[in-house]
Amino acid sequence: MPIETPAPAVPFSFEIYPPRHPEGMPALRETIGHLAAAGPQFISVTFGAGGSTTDRSLEVLTHILRTTSVPPLAHLTCVGSTYADATHVIRTFLDAGITRFLALRGDPPVGAIEGEPFLGDLESAAQLVQLIDRVQAERAAYAERDIPGVPGAASVVAPTKVEISVAAFPNGHPRSRHRFEDIDALLAKQAAGARSAITQLFFRAEEYLDFVGRARAEGVTIPILPGIMPLTSPSRLRRVLELTGDPRPTEFADALERASDAATARRIGIAHASSLARDVVSGGAPGIHLYAFNNHETVLAVLRDADLAPHLTTQEISA
Ligand code: FAD
Repeated sequence: MPIETPAPAVPFSFEIYPPRHPEGMPALRETIGHLAAAGPQFISVTFGAGGSTTDRSLEVLTHILRTTSVPPLAHLTCVGSTYADATHVIRTFLDAGITRFLALRGDPPVGAIEGEPFLGDLESAAQLVQLIDRVQAERAAYAERDIPGVPGAASVVAPTKVEISVAAFPNGHPRSRHRFEDIDALLAKQAAGARSAITQLFFRAEEYLDFVGRARAEGVTIPILPGIMPLTSPSRLRRVLELTGDPRPTEFADALERASDAATARRIGIAHASSLARDVVSGGAPGIHLYAFNNHETVLAVLRDADLAPHLTTQEISA
């Protein structure tokens, strides 16, 4: 029986990842129950570049679909895929009832050079946006063909039109050569059919607001949802900085390093993320997307402290 969820005043959503081992699934199912009960617009599930998590991602997505009333959003990457491979994965996800996607290129393997043939047929997220749209359109056209006595056509259940989101990088993608390259990439994704964008994490509200201002000035019209990652330990912050290449946010990083214990560091991380959430919302953000790290308590505490989920009880958050 799907869990019914209340509609929040400021829309929010969560990102989770498939567990590394099957034994992690029961705990994740419980987390999904708590996240869904908060009333997010969607819960997104990451995808390992190169298809390493296809089955596990799909298992998590179908669990959300079957047990909650929250739409699941599937991340998909295309680096290293042929057109045929990518088409097969898209069809499999559509067949499972998934209609929301975050189309990503994905990171090439370490040491790979752009242009190498094994990086696959699709060179950018914009091409994946077009492919998802095309596969869905072909599928819908096939399902509409009413051919009596022909098995197959009628058995294909065409989902309603797909909704495709893409990634955006307020502080620049580590590979971009100048600050407008990321806006150009976003414009290309919008032209390809993307309906919205979700940003990479950032540390100061101005970074997001300035990026949105520049994107609007260049013609980006789709909603740009700020991605907020509560960082609750100095080691996690260091790992994230290595991945994103962002400069160290001195004040916040120093406060985390100075924390006398894990509980204090956690409070500092939650306070930082909730103040960021409040500031971007008051600056005009259409909602917030929270990176949940497969843990409901921290992101629900962020929503509570940012006054974005007044319907949540302390018991539900238990943080
Ligand atoms: P693209 O936008 O295609 O390319 C990345 C960069 O290349 C651009 O920012 C730009 O600098 C340049 N570029 C590309 N096209 C153009 C163009 N037409 N004009 C100018 N410049 C261009 N990775 C995973 O493996 N799995 C996930 O589940 C996942 N989820 C993510 C979720 C979010 C919200 C974000 C922000 C990132 C996520 N990533 C994930 C990481 C992402 O795959 C990497 O950052 C990857 O390197 C870039 O992917 P992209 O879709 O932005 O690629």
